[in-house]
Amino acid sequence: MTHTTRPDPFADEAEFQDAVTAMAQTLRCLTYHTHDSRRSNPGSPDLVIAGRRGVLYRELKTATGRLSRAQDEWLSTLVLAGANAAVWRPEDWPVRIHREIRAVS
Ligand SMILES: [Mg+2]
Repeated sequence: MTHTTRPDPFADEAEFQDAVTAMAQTLRCLTYHTHDSRRSNPGSPDLVIAGRRGVLYRELKTATGRLSRAQDEWLSTLVLAGANAAVWRPEDWPVRIHREIRAVS
């Protein structure tokens, strides 16, 4: 049997985000997402997930999605500041994402 790639379980980033948000809420974390960002400053991460043991800043991307310059600057600055900031992609679902949310919940 040759290597098989696991199919992306999500139709788009919105569906991915819905699944991540539901998981975070199931693990009793608070979640925040700016629904209409058109009048907001660009680049801030898609999701803030707050639990009793920490806060995650996560930019969600499709398997092939690329960070904008503003998104990269936000994540880099948050990491330099000591925050837990990163990108999650569908391939991180569910194992990595569950582990990282559990760590702050
Ligand atoms: Mg995104």
